[in-house]
Amino acid sequence: MNLNLYGHDGQWLMVDCGVTFDEPLVAPYLNQNAGSRHHVVAPDPAFIVQQREQLAGLVITHGHEDHVGAVAALWPRLRCPVFATPFTAEILHRKLGQVGLAGKVPVQIVRPDATLTVGPFVLSWLAITHSIPEPQALLISTSAGTVFHTADWKIDAQPVSGKPFNANLYRQLGETELLALVGDSTNALKPGFSISERICAEGLNTVIKRCTGRVVISCFGSNIARLMSLARIAQHTGRYMALLGRSLDNMHGVAKKTGYWPDDLDVLEKAHIGYLPPDEVLVVATGSQGEPRAALNRMAIDASPYFELEAGDTVIFSSIVIPGNEKAVERLLEKLRKKGVEVVLSEDSEVPIHASGHPCVEELKLMYQWTKPQIAIPVHGEPEHLEAHAAVAREMGVKRTYVGRNGDLYLLAPQPGIRRARVKAGRIAIDQS
Ligand SMILES: [Zn+2]
Ligand SMILES: [Zn+2]
Repeated sequence: MNLNLYGHDGQWLMVDCGVTFDEPLVAPYLNQNAGSRHHVVAPDPAFIVQQREQLAGLVITHGHEDHVGAVAALWPRLRCPVFATPFTAEILHRKLGQVGLAGKVPVQIVRPDATLTVGPFVLSWLAITHSIPEPQALLISTSAGTVFHTADWKIDAQPVSGKPFNANLYRQLGETELLALVGDSTNALKPGFSISERICAEGLNTVIKRCTGRVVISCFGSNIARLMSLARIAQHTGRYMALLGRSLDNMHGVAKKTGYWPDDLDVLEKAHIGYLPPDEVLVVATGSQGEPRAALNRMAIDASPYFELEAGDTVIFSSIVIPGNEKAVERLLEKLRKKGVEVVLSEDSEVPIHASGHPCVEELKLMYQWTKPQIAIPVHGEPEHLEAHAAVAREMGVKRTYVGRNGDLYLLAPQPGIRRARVKAGRIAIDQS
């Protein structure tokens, strides 16, 4: 869950406001909140709520839950203008509607290459590549210096949806005396480069072509490029694609509304799946993490209202197991295998069937080579990822790296890094139905 605050001249800018899902760490909160259907936690905003008159705005970099998921719950305590590009704004709009806040939150829709002044901050949105439409990096300029906030990113030369990564944008930053880079550390322990979404699509095509029964693919619904690839593979292999799961329906709806879904790619009505011969079925389902109520687990226990999985069908995990979910996924796999269903995991597949949306070591190196910041502040990851990211930055000649914990406050200018304080930065449970 992300929530960043930048301060200058007595005012604050918030970048992202996300959630995360329950884990053993937050058990005390969950007990207090045992009635809610999903156990969702958000960063505790107490520090900024106490001075919300000084909060100039909130920028949402992209539509992933860990960046936008807490806005609907926390905005009533923040009451600031919110800035987002069209795809992200549509996701946010739907979330606000669910809690009766539609039309009440001032959401300003910005172009993906916009420059805007928000309080004492001059903000430039920079297109980048990730695993959802319209990911944005942000350049935050003040009279004290310029900070480059990468948000989530990777280098994808063939992203399937949206424009390829444009290195020139970032090379230009290297000519501007960049004060600091605040950046994604998720894959800082992984050598090499991330896989392009296009290569992932080719891998999925190879695996699906061989299948003779029904094909069920589990992936994250927000990866519109992946859904588009699967829809095209369905077309080429004589199958009809259906989506099972609320988040898939929602994301497909957002993609249609904002013009990201190509008109020639059809989605089959769920009710029709059961009438098709198995070799004409391609179902995309939620539940890659073993979530008990998600579509995939329902299929595994024969509780899907649409069709039954049988021996000869194949379930493909176009995803990774998020740490902490291993046991739930193992239980799901056992149920599927007992039915005689073939299971293909991205970890075991000989061709790539999943592509991460985050930069590996060589991508981090390139970004530092291009942008040449004076200070690197690794974010987004566990302490080991932050340390690995900082080591890469130092190797690339960055003089100062700050690796901290949630709540650490850094002074970047005029005297970088000398004073460092902490603010209260716990987590709070929020309701999400
Ligand atoms: Zn993301
Ligand atoms: Zn993220």
